[in-house]
Amino acid sequence: MNSAQTQAKSNEVDLEDQPRVHVGCGLCGSRRSRLVCSPEDVIAQQRFLEHFYRSRWSQQTAATATDRVSFTQDYATSIVACMDCGLLYRNPRPRAEAVTQAYETEDYDEAYLQAEFTAQQTWARGKADILARHLEKVGRRGRPRVLEIGSFVGGFLLEGQLRGWDMLGVDPGHDVASFCRRHRLPVFEGTLEEAQLPPASFDAVAIWNTFDQLPDPRKLLHQLLPLMRNGGLLVARVPNGACFEWGMSIRARLPKVFRRPLDIALACNNLLTFPYLYGYSAEQLEELTEPFGFRLLACYADQIVSSPPGHLRRWALWEEQVVKTLCRAFAVLWPDNRSLRFRSAPWLDCIFERACTDEERPAPQNLGLGVIPVYSPLVFKDTGLDCSVNR
Ligand SMILES: [Zn+2]
Repeated sequence: MNSAQTQAKSNEVDLEDQPRVHVGCGLCGSRRSRLVCSPEDVIAQQRFLEHFYRSRWSQQTAATATDRVSFTQDYATSIVACMDCGLLYRNPRPRAEAVTQAYETEDYDEAYLQAEFTAQQTWARGKADILARHLEKVGRRGRPRVLEIGSFVGGFLLEGQLRGWDMLGVDPGHDVASFCRRHRLPVFEGTLEEAQLPPASFDAVAIWNTFDQLPDPRKLLHQLLPLMRNGGLLVARVPNGACFEWGMSIRARLPKVFRRPLDIALACNNLLTFPYLYGYSAEQLEELTEPFGFRLLACYADQIVSSPPGHLRRWALWEEQVVKTLCRAFAVLWPDNRSLRFRSAPWLDCIFERACTDEERPAPQNLGLGVIPVYSPLVFKDTGLDCSVNR
């Protein structure tokens, strides 16, 4: 299951046609929210996005430009922020079952999947480096077993295999799972529940581009917990809601003529129209995962994976590189570490450690109730939270 890109085909569930429901905050349950982006603004941003990609992509085939403007979560609705905890979310939105079904019925053609696979390989190398560093920190050596939820075209599975890791991907999408099988990558086609994996068998679980799309992330955390070994790592990559909200507040104050550079920066990072269910900050992810016994070890500011090679016009490639360099420089100059919200970072990679239990066995669902979570001694000595900029 990919974050968003999809092609509309006849057997897909189009969320635009689904009835909408008003929901409360997915983190604290509050119903008090402030408007960050109106449905009219979302429609205007969608129009800009269409022009943006059509003018920049040199190959205007179904496998390229259209995939960057057609998102699963592209229906026009309000983007709001919770007034109690700050979580950004789409509201109203289609029912959870319709959202799940939309991802399960995504169709992709081979050329698109191959282009994304090529783009993912370079990207996945940097991500595997980060995970390798943290596996070493928590004393995991040898051949770690790593699970990826939403493995999509399998770029990270391949990179893990090249390092000698024992990899397994889980993805309910038929086309992407078939693509992985054709590339001899280990994937289970279906949900985590259907996979029925053995308890305490994984050293790390990675969710690179899926967590923000889950209507009920607590259900996934509950399923994951027993599968992880003592001190296992959880990696979640999310679009930064605080960055989008900040961008919108700056945009509202700018005269129209000066809005364009900001729109380009947001478009280059797939934040325009905010095509995700939730926009977590590192702080909010920490609050969500803590009751399950996870502790935030590190947070890395990041950006979206670059466009597939050979698809951008020469000037657009240059523009993308300038935007990414400026975003990186901005994150260094203004990391906003104190609040852990990384306001200037479009994307966040968060690394968590699962608490150790007395023995290797499934942990109780809520370690906060009478059980003191214990973390690996190596990390426990490391007093400071690693808040870094990913280069
Ligand atoms: Zn809230």
